[in-house]
Amino acid sequence: MTQTNITDRPTRVAIIANGKYQSKRVASKLFAAFKDDRNFYLSKKDPDVVISIGGDGMLLSAFHMYEKNLDTVRFVGVHTGHLGFYTDYRDFEVDKLIENLRADKGDKVSYPILKIKITLENGQEVTARALNESTIKRIEKTMVTDVIINHVKFERFRGDGISISTPTGSTGYNKSLGGAVLHPTMEALQLTEISSINNRVYRTLGSSIIIPKKDKIEIVPKRQGIYTFSIDNKTIHYKNVAKVEYCLDSKKISFVATPFHTSFWERVKDAFIGGQDS
Ligand code: NAP
Ligand code: MN
Repeated sequence: MTQTNITDRPTRVAIIANGKYQSKRVASKLFAAFKDDRNFYLSKKDPDVVISIGGDGMLLSAFHMYEKNLDTVRFVGVHTGHLGFYTDYRDFEVDKLIENLRADKGDKVSYPILKIKITLENGQEVTARALNESTIKRIEKTMVTDVIINHVKFERFRGDGISISTPTGSTGYNKSLGGAVLHPTMEALQLTEISSINNRVYRTLGSSIIIPKKDKIEIVPKRQGIYTFSIDNKTIHYKNVAKVEYCLDSKKISFVATPFHTSFWERVKDAFIGGQDS
């Protein structure tokens, strides 16, 4: 846990909620609490704290709304459903959230994010950041790409696609693909295959790979066509892709540290195993 510089100016708070009735109710309660408090200033512009109300999906949207402000912003997630992975508070804990923000000294907890660079054949470069994962797929035909890890030409992949996830994203799409769950304090990326073809002719490693901070992953398409990229909850298509590079970003996402802490393993258990204890 580290501290941001706290000055005497009011904390600028942006409140973002999804369309659910319950989320709007939580948002109104927070608005009412901070509106007349001179230590807070409600503003969607250059906030110090972004409160996302909804689910993990809503926090992904909030992250992309403020991804240019990662140096200064801290996020707080309120879940208006079950316990989430990016959400420290449930909807019935709003009073506790208000109390904790009033006592806040700028403490934060930070997690790694993914940097993606897509280079097109005409030399154009597109960069993006992902909080959960980015996938590359070729929909119309088998995707054929070379996978290069830290300059080692590792394998020629044939199949539906490849996912590169962050530690906090490892419990999302990556897990559905059979990838491992990574503790979010580990500074690593995970490459997971999406339906690779494996037979006596074509060969890939098959298991997912955990890649350390210093290593870069490159994917080089071997067929012309349309490639579909997902970046968290967004999708984009590019033709004539020359290569795609993935590494851990130099910036991290920061969350307001809470005085209590829900263990990551508690969240994994709650989300995927449930209450059975026998
Ligand atoms: P969505 O289709 O509405 O929701 C996908 C589900 O993933 C929701 O239950 C969401 O939780 C949950 N989720 C999101 N991030 C997670 C994380 N880091 N760990 C565990 N669960 C997580 O889409 P969305 O809400 O916009 O979220 C986009 C994400 O969905 C993508 O980044 C990807 O990880 C995931 N996804 C999964 C699959 C799959 O498993 N086959 C396919 C595509 C995308 P909430 O209900 O709290 O929002
Ligand atoms: Mn969702």
